[in-house]
Amino acid sequence: MTETVSCQGCSQAVPRALFEERWKVCPKCGYHHPLTAQERLELLVDPGSFEEFDADLYSVDFLNFPRYLERLEAYRKETGLPSEMLTGYAQVGGHRLVIGITDMRFNMGSMGSVVGEKITRCFERAIEGRLPVLIVSGSGAGARMYEGTVALMQMAKTSAAVRRHHEAGLFYISLITHPTMGGTAASFVSLGHVILAEPGAMIGFAGARARAAIGERMPPELQTAESLLKHGMLDAVIPRERLRPALIWLLGFLAGEPPTTDGK
Ligand SMILES: [Zn+2]
Repeated sequence: MTETVSCQGCSQAVPRALFEERWKVCPKCGYHHPLTAQERLELLVDPGSFEEFDADLYSVDFLNFPRYLERLEAYRKETGLPSEMLTGYAQVGGHRLVIGITDMRFNMGSMGSVVGEKITRCFERAIEGRLPVLIVSGSGAGARMYEGTVALMQMAKTSAAVRRHHEAGLFYISLITHPTMGGTAASFVSLGHVILAEPGAMIGFAGARARAAIGERMPPELQTAESLLKHGMLDAVIPRERLRPALIWLLGFLAGEPPTTDGK
């Protein structure tokens, strides 16, 4: 019997082989399911070009938050990752850049001190190497409550790093995936020179559940990538299978290469 997965968008059964082949995009409704950081690398960067840095940064429990360390240990075991994000040098279509990718499986990819530091170091290394930065965000939880104010401080810290990179005359592409909310959406995610998103991605500060808690209602489509594009908050919404060609085109344009139409 063919193994199937149930689509989170339309609840229909999709053959697993087809699901994987299409980078976890539902062939029936087009729903873009989250990719792991490793899958995202395979989708976007030239094979064998990724050189990870800062793999040894770990969160610590400076607030003595109940069960925080246990949770972190469980996420490490489940994902095989030391923290919420992978960062390193890579090439996309032969263009060298610094890339950072959050992994939703690790505590919703939320931003604590480690994500803030890793993002900051991405921009610092890019300034040293005169390189563009690509950050792929997918953080449903925004800033991490287990780290309190220190997590919130990462918003200012990462924003300042983006600014220094900008002042050095270098380019930053922010790619937003579903879902990206709270403190990440309100800091480095929204500061790209070019801001791209995947179709249907939910992007915003306070989501529907947070607003419902204070008695506010809002239309469900308000925080989608398509709505943000319509209101000028994004530059493009790009289906997953077109992302790599679009990035290659964009990086080539920045490098002053003549435009190509095939995205190869
Ligand atoms: Zn579907």
